[in-house]
Amino acid sequence: MKYIYGPVPSRRLGNSLGIDPLPSKTCNYQCIYCQLGKTTNFTNIRKNFFPKEEIILEMEKAIELHDNSIDYITFVGSGEPTLYKDLKDLLIKAKEFSKKPIAVITNGSLLNNKEVQDALMHSDLVLPSLDAGNEQIFIRINRPHPSINFEDMIDGFINFRNIFYGKFWIEVMLIRGVNDSKKELLKIKEKIDLINPNRIDINVPIRPPVEKWVKIPDKETLSFLNKIFVDYKNINFPEEGKFSIYSSDLETELLSILERHPMRQDQIIKTFSSAKFTEDEIITQLEQLKSLKKIKDILYNNQIFWILEIN
Ligand code: SF4
Repeated sequence: MKYIYGPVPSRRLGNSLGIDPLPSKTCNYQCIYCQLGKTTNFTNIRKNFFPKEEIILEMEKAIELHDNSIDYITFVGSGEPTLYKDLKDLLIKAKEFSKKPIAVITNGSLLNNKEVQDALMHSDLVLPSLDAGNEQIFIRINRPHPSINFEDMIDGFINFRNIFYGKFWIEVMLIRGVNDSKKELLKIKEKIDLINPNRIDINVPIRPPVEKWVKIPDKETLSFLNKIFVDYKNINFPEEGKFSIYSSDLETELLSILERHPMRQDQIIKTFSSAKFTEDEIITQLEQLKSLKKIKDILYNNQIFWILEIN
């Protein structure tokens, strides 16, 4: 399938069937921590990058196949999903095909766009990111398209939150030395107080980031994080999810997962061993894909990760 992946176990969404309506790395941000590599299609123009009929056909088939085993249908993937112009039609169709809740993982940059707001009203859960409390840090971390303004974006969060009846969970990615000081965290909290989400997920760059200098914050950050967000009951420090696989074709499954998600070698072995491949078979396949220059291994945080060669 071209536009569907998984189901994959997701930290926040359980067993999630992914819908990916964009070409690889189409985004209006170029986040320093992006795990998908460089933004190759840097745009803030919304359009139908692929024919929606094709996406809808695949969605129907995949939902029919997996509906009983999934917790969420999730719009996410190779870039910013709200850049897909007819996202509303895709969401309406997904609702027609399944009674499972629909989630949209977004960078939140277009929440002040009326068409995007109108589309997202057809979802059950919106999960935007907010990594900065001011314009300067926003530009440093997310490196947004020049047409995106920080305060307008925050207004979009507030306005959409006020009209949306579904769940609204904000994710904050913390990066050592950039937004993990008390001062910066207080600024982020000030904005979050105005937005009033149902839940906050704190995350750290556990997978290889596009910029090699990006690092996970020190453990001490946790102590003042707890103090700063003490009045928030629903704040989470999520654990890394595991992946599951469904096809017996090791090469296809490996490439399909690594295309959207770098993976640690030990995770790969654990996941694929449970699908009856031996460790030797898995390592041989990884090495073979490496020699074909389709994937590569890199060392990050003293662990071996496998990612697509283009990243
Ligand atoms: S992390 Fe998300 S928003 Fe940031 S560049 Fe990557 S795809 Fe775009």
